[in-house]
Amino acid sequence: MSTSTAAVFSGEANQLELWEIPLPQLQTGELLVEVLGCTICPSDLHSISGRRQTPVPSILGHEIVGRIVELGPNTTRFDLRHQPLRVGDRVGWAVIVHCGNCFYCHLGLTQKCLHATKYGHSRFRPDRELLGGFAEHCLLLPETQIIKLPDELPLESACPAGCGTATAAAAIELAGQLAGLDLLICGAGLLGLTLAAMARVAGANQIVCLDPNPARAARSLEFGASTGVHPDELVEWQRSANGGHGFDVAWETSAQTEAFCSALSALRQGGRLIELGAVYPVPPTPLVLEQLVRRNLTIQGQHNYSPRHLVKAIEFLEAHHGHFPFASLVGDWISLGELPDWIERLGSNSAIRIGVRSRS
Ligand SMILES: [Zn+2]
Ligand SMILES: [Zn+2]
Repeated sequence: MSTSTAAVFSGEANQLELWEIPLPQLQTGELLVEVLGCTICPSDLHSISGRRQTPVPSILGHEIVGRIVELGPNTTRFDLRHQPLRVGDRVGWAVIVHCGNCFYCHLGLTQKCLHATKYGHSRFRPDRELLGGFAEHCLLLPETQIIKLPDELPLESACPAGCGTATAAAAIELAGQLAGLDLLICGAGLLGLTLAAMARVAGANQIVCLDPNPARAARSLEFGASTGVHPDELVEWQRSANGGHGFDVAWETSAQTEAFCSALSALRQGGRLIELGAVYPVPPTPLVLEQLVRRNLTIQGQHNYSPRHLVKAIEFLEAHHGHFPFASLVGDWISLGELPDWIERLGSNSAIRIGVRSRS
C-alpha cells in the first residue's frame, strides 16, 4: 500500500476524478488516518457546482472520521480531552488547523486564523495532497485538533460532528442561557435539527422549526422541536411565543433573505438573531435600521467554530445520540469509486446527508 485513491476536484463544475496519490512520508507530529467515512456537506456541493470558490486542485470532504494507521517519527500526540493518540484509534478532528499565534488566534477566533489550513478546502502542495475526506487516507498536520471517538458512536452521527454539529454547538453558546426561552429555527437541515436537539437539552420552552419541505419540518419534532411548520405559518406561531411578544432567539440556517427578514420581525424586543446559513454569496438583505434600534435587536453571524465547540459537539452526541435520531440523517452510503458518477444526482437528493466510504 503506497498510494491512496482520492476523488480530486480540479475546478471543472460537477467533475471529480479518481487519482492515485502517493502516501506521504510522515514528518514529526503528523498522523496518517484511514478514512472510515466522510459525509457530504452542502458546502461541498456549493464548491463542486462552482457556487462557492475553493482552491484547486484539492480533495473536498471535511466531515470525516478516520482510524489512525501511522504516527510520524518521534511523535507523541494527545487529543482535545488529553487522551494519548495511538495507532488504531478512531478519531475526528477540527476542520480548521490554526496556528495559535496570529492576531485572530490571540482573539480566540481561531477559525479565522491568518495561517489556517482547512481540511477539504486545501490546494495541493507537494507530498501533502491528502487533506480531504473524499479519499482512502487523510494526513493530519501537527497542529490539528483531534478528538478520540468512542466505538459506540455511529459513523453517521460522528462524521458531521466536525462541521455542522460543532458549528451548532458554537451557535448555541453564542445564544447564552436557553432555559425557559422561546426559540425559532429557520431551516431543518443538519444545523437546524442539531440546534433543536441542543436547545431542547438546554431546557428551552418552545422551539418552533420552519422548513418549506413538510417532511423536513415534521422531522424536527424527533429532534426536540415543539412544532415543525412551513415558513408561511410563522406569524401564527409568533403569537404563542412569550404570549405574543415574539421569540427570544432565532437561528437562521437557510441563507434565504426572506427567512432572515421574517425571523427578525418575529423576535421580541431585545431579541437576538444568529445567522449561520449564508456561507456562500447571497443577494443583499434589506434591513430597516430604525427597527434594529427601536426594538433593541442583536444580529450576529457565526461561521465555523473553535476546537472547544468540537469537544462540546462530541460530548453532546455521546450523551444524546440515543435520544435523537442523528444516525438516520445519512440517507445512503456510496463508495469512493461511485462518487464521480453520483455528483449530478447529489443536489436533488432529499437526504440530509449522503456518506462516502472507501469500501461501500
Ligand atoms: Zn461542512
Ligand atoms: Zn492563527
